[in-house]
Amino acid sequence: MAERTYGFDTLQIHAGARPDPATGARQTPIYQNTAYVFRDADHAAALFNLQEVGYIYSRLTNPTVSALQERVAALEGGVGAVACASGHAAQIMALFPLMGPGANFVASNRLYGGTITQFSQTFKRFGWECRFVDFEDTSAIRKAIDANTKAIFCESIANPGGYITDLEKIGKLAEKEKLPLIVDNTSASPFLCRPFEWGATQVVHSTTKYLSGNGTSMGGIVVDSGKFDWIGAGKHPSMIEPEPAYHGLKFAETFGPLAYTFHGIAIGLRDIGACQSPMNAFQTLLGIETLSLRMAKHCENAKRVAEFLAGHPAVEYVSYAGLDTSPYALRARKYTPKGAGAIFTFGVKGGYESCLKLVDAVEIFSHVANLGDSRSLIIHSASTTHRQLTPEQQAAAGAGPEVVRLSIGIEDAADLIADLEQALDKACGTAAKPAAKAAKKKKK
Ligand SMILES: *Cc1c(COP(=O)(O)O)cnc(C)c1O
Repeated sequence: MAERTYGFDTLQIHAGARPDPATGARQTPIYQNTAYVFRDADHAAALFNLQEVGYIYSRLTNPTVSALQERVAALEGGVGAVACASGHAAQIMALFPLMGPGANFVASNRLYGGTITQFSQTFKRFGWECRFVDFEDTSAIRKAIDANTKAIFCESIANPGGYITDLEKIGKLAEKEKLPLIVDNTSASPFLCRPFEWGATQVVHSTTKYLSGNGTSMGGIVVDSGKFDWIGAGKHPSMIEPEPAYHGLKFAETFGPLAYTFHGIAIGLRDIGACQSPMNAFQTLLGIETLSLRMAKHCENAKRVAEFLAGHPAVEYVSYAGLDTSPYALRARKYTPKGAGAIFTFGVKGGYESCLKLVDAVEIFSHVANLGDSRSLIIHSASTTHRQLTPEQQAAAGAGPEVVRLSIGIEDAADLIADLEQALDKACGTAAKPAAKAAKKKKK
């Protein structure tokens, strides 16, 4: 693909998009359309047999959604992608071709709270078992793997603990064990981190966050590197054995590096039906056009706010890999050299009650259960997103009672700092003028 040779900023605007063949429209049109007219009966038969690629019905494929799939695949350096209704749908879709009743996968215990709930509760009903392990401990990962293990799952920048996974180490382990490594790259975005370069074989995103970027559209996507050797591994019947719903077709043998993507569309979207709407795909395509510009500003602002908080008397600690004091600072330089993202947590000295006062006192920050918006967001995880978890799970996920999570937007950093300063004053009764002044001086 010639597109591979273009830079990121070019790809984020052009990959997957071409002038509309019918009208010449330059921006990708919203194909708000359900079904597509077959040229003739032979054409219809070829499409249904997967002998020809084309459009049948928008649960499977849609031109606007296809443009999004191609664009994100190009940005991640993958061969194909399947867009879904949400990030959580993408996680089901990513695992669906690999799993079956009685199968298990090994996941990091540092994950988005909603993901932990989905993996530990709902997946049980499919007969899928998730084994949570501390990914700092590679021997524990190896111990959790057995003959029924089908995949390894982690996040690049783990949300919300300020944790960066040692992707290269986990990638090598996965390769040795002949297991796919699925990385949730939501918090980093492909601009900051490219998991395929470190051994991931699949990437999932909640496109709801940085990719759409403005807090308008739910969505998810599964990207395939095309590098996993399904036949060699011999572990995933859906990928290698005859598929009864397509006259005994074998996906890996027939489609080679595109097997996983084709399975995702032809089986996953067909039967799970969690497709992305054309309107949301359009909004997400628009968002991606400015991804690199936004991510650079998100990271710059996050660093300034984190430095301010680190010097504030009411703040116990700041967990941000972009600070030199973070235990993950070196990993951030390796895996996210353009910035450590813009989502981080900090500990408030007053604990649970002060955190509740703080989220009520902010003015620019919005108290919402979302991330990766252009506007700055705040949430107290223990009383909201992580309240379904046990105290042990909360602590492992970096969401204890004193923890406040910020998603730093692209406003003026000085305004964000002033807002947090006045809110901390109200929540903790601590004047913090000297710390704020020091932080302001540094930025000049
Ligand atoms: C938001 C999020 C999800 C879930 O995505 P939805 O689009 O809300 O379904 C999964 N992983 C991470 C890291 C997230 O931030």
